[in-house]
Amino acid sequence: MTKKCIYCSADVEDTCVIDFCEKCGVGVFGRKMFDAIVQNMERARANGDLTHSQSDSFQNSTNLKDFK
Ligand SMILES: [Zn+2]
Repeated sequence: MTKKCIYCSADVEDTCVIDFCEKCGVGVFGRKMFDAIVQNMERARANGDLTHSQSDSFQNSTNLKDFK
């Protein structure tokens, strides 16, 4: 499964947390804002807010609260 950029339909890496390519993201939001969005999305994903299916195995084997 490969995602497509919502702006230019270029291939976006499936592991990417956003639905558009870096070029379009920077063009739309600007570099600084784009980086902030990506960081926020990656943090949310790390917390299990976005991709429960992908983080299940990790959460089952590790109690995340132990790290806080
Ligand atoms: Zn694009």
